[in-house]
Amino acid sequence: MSDTTSETPASPSDQPEEDKPKKPATAEEVSRKLEDFIKNTLGGQVLFTRIDGPMPRKVTDDDSPSSESPAPDNSAAFEFRFKPAEIKAHLDRYVIRQDEAKKVLATAVCDHYHHARMLREHRQQNPDAAPLEFSKQNVIIAGPTGVGKTYLVKHIADLIGVPFVKADATKFSETGYVGADVDDMVRDLVSKADGDIELAEHGIIYLDEIDKLSSGPERLGRDVSGRGVQTALLKLMEETEVPLYAQNDIRSQMQMMFDTRKGRTGREVINTRNILFIVSGAFSGLEKLIEKRTNRKAIGFVSATDAERTPADHLLRDAITKDFIDYGFEAEFIGRLPVRVVCDPLSADDLFDIMKTSEGSLIRQYEREFAAYGIKAVFHDDALREIAARAAEEKTGARGLVTAWEKVLREFKFEMPSLGLPELQIDAALVKSPQTALEHCRQEALTFVNQLGAAHADEIAAYSDEFLRQHGFRLDFEPAAIAAIASRAQREGRSIPAMCSLLFKDYPFGLKLVSRSTGVTEFRIPAEAVDHPDPWLSELVVQACRPGSHIG
Ligand code: ADP
Repeated sequence: MSDTTSETPASPSDQPEEDKPKKPATAEEVSRKLEDFIKNTLGGQVLFTRIDGPMPRKVTDDDSPSSESPAPDNSAAFEFRFKPAEIKAHLDRYVIRQDEAKKVLATAVCDHYHHARMLREHRQQNPDAAPLEFSKQNVIIAGPTGVGKTYLVKHIADLIGVPFVKADATKFSETGYVGADVDDMVRDLVSKADGDIELAEHGIIYLDEIDKLSSGPERLGRDVSGRGVQTALLKLMEETEVPLYAQNDIRSQMQMMFDTRKGRTGREVINTRNILFIVSGAFSGLEKLIEKRTNRKAIGFVSATDAERTPADHLLRDAITKDFIDYGFEAEFIGRLPVRVVCDPLSADDLFDIMKTSEGSLIRQYEREFAAYGIKAVFHDDALREIAARAAEEKTGARGLVTAWEKVLREFKFEMPSLGLPELQIDAALVKSPQTALEHCRQEALTFVNQLGAAHADEIAAYSDEFLRQHGFRLDFEPAAIAAIASRAQREGRSIPAMCSLLFKDYPFGLKLVSRSTGVTEFRIPAEAVDHPDPWLSELVVQACRPGSHIG
């Protein structure tokens, strides 16, 4: 057979190179080539989904003979031993506010995974007994955008070590079936779990914008597809088996062919029994239905202070199944989501706390970004308050923080690394007038660098003398170069002689070449040679070798 080449064992070393069998192509390579081929041939008529991340696999990618045995039954591999308070304590480190959501989620997650474990143990100990009853603790989180809904779920998944997949429900209702089949989310869990199906079967699927699937009065036109998606999701949430290889995804099919050819005969389905589903949405308009039913008044989801926060959120907290059905959800669908919780809008004070105290704070990220250039960025509380107030106005929750900071810091992030200043004080004045503050930094940088240069001029002159004594060449450092050496030495925590030795370690040899061609023995060293010592020297050598060049 002609295609057996790839499966022939490695050839002996005395075989000529061209006769040696090629290393077998991986499934990734084969499918990528096939994708390219089909796309080129059919002009992009074929849809390929999920081309990033590892493909599901039943055994390791390793092609060694041992990997060709069926996947072991590692059903005890996923161990869950958390208590709700431990999960909440972890969330408290990252997520500001949302206390109720933290508690409810932590409890639901513990219930879910302890149940899964107990059912498994029961099955193992009593294989013939009737299965225990278990109703899943799937969750609905209601709340406006950017208040930490996804953040909560992601941190839970990280803590307990299960794969986590997020999708927008609108993706299914708008594109329908093509390439965005709801089953893909389950297969994505397998990718996230690096091919470990057992772990994927304990993953979390998080679906945002679930409210867009409702077919209430505000959603005319979405009825059919929204209801269709609800039915498809319902099946997943109950319990079903999703094929490991998608029928409509050529990559998945290629993987199946590859695995089959390799004799890999593991499981081909993913069971959704133990997958936890968390859905969320703003559910705008729902409070009106509750208001009508309960005869109470609401003011809608508003990002506001504590005093203003209560009415709409409290109403949403009173939502019952009937309200969701009136909102346009199928009764069976909403019935599969028994745990309901509300996330509060974030006030300016909350946004301040997020920056000040959350371990995932954006401020830590900015500090690290500046620190990469040796700059200590110091954020003052008045700056955080100013930004928090601006972000609150955007009404996009904590997402507004990124927008507000980017606008203020954009120019600083660009210019500061080149100014040579060791510190940047970020206060309210800087936030209010970034341009003025930047101009001030430029002035300060001039003075600072000159002073620094002056303070170290003697040490650099001593290095120059030593260089002359050892190598016979005089280095004449320009003032800007002296300043650049001094500020770089300070930034990198080195002494001046150590900095010079490092920067100019190849200069004795390079300058000898230059000197041989030109006879020059004295060299003016500009700041550029400090910033880019090797390219500057190379250019000098190249110039020296050109006929009639003038160097010195
Ligand atoms: P959504 O509620 O729309 O799912 P996210 O959870 O994705 O919003 O929040 C976006 C980002 O804002 C998060 O990644 C996180 O950095 C920050 N964030 C949002 N809410 C909070 C919060 N309550 N505490 C700390 N950070 C938050």
